[in-house]
Amino acid sequence: LDAVTQTVQWLEDCPLFNAGRGAVFTHEGRNELDASIMEGRTQMAGAVGGVTIVKNPILLARAVMEKSPHVMLTGRGAEQFALENGIETVSSAWFYTEERWNTLQKMLEEEKSKTGSLTHNPDYKFGTVGCVALDQSGNLAAGTSTGGMTNKRWNRLGDTPVIGAGTYADNNVCAVSCTGHGEYFIRY
Ligand code: ASP
Repeated sequence: LDAVTQTVQWLEDCPLFNAGRGAVFTHEGRNELDASIMEGRTQMAGAVGGVTIVKNPILLARAVMEKSPHVMLTGRGAEQFALENGIETVSSAWFYTEERWNTLQKMLEEEKSKTGSLTHNPDYKFGTVGCVALDQSGNLAAGTSTGGMTNKRWNRLGDTPVIGAGTYADNNVCAVSCTGHGEYFIRY
């Protein structure tokens, strides 16, 4: 669990990935972050959706798992829980990268001219981060973190905060962290 948490935290801090710093932008030009984590031995899990000021959403997901009676918290309430539990928060400017901003601008332009080719460009959706780990005693853990899909709207949540869709771990079966079009993972 520690290896998964630490790895995902590093990747969130790296601006190259669509998670934490470097996350993609919503239609309105915001960063709304999703993350989840699951422990295969206990089947405990924690997830957060649509958080905007939490530096490392994976740390908040883990806190939800370990310090709350719940599995998934979203939006303002999740941020309130972060503040109450000493999880580091930042100004929304922390997540900004020029590349992701430009991608949103291109997509908005394409939307206006109704060409839409970028939506189908695979380069558009890469960058969600995840980690699965197996320890010497056979314990599995998995974690995933993402900014979701560029140009998302209406507080859309993808598969990443949905346990059993974006993240899953069971010592008797497997551990999985998914990336791709979240709507498909949720349905399957
Ligand atoms: N699965 C993520 C989502 O749908 C995005 C991704 O993996 O690129 O939010």
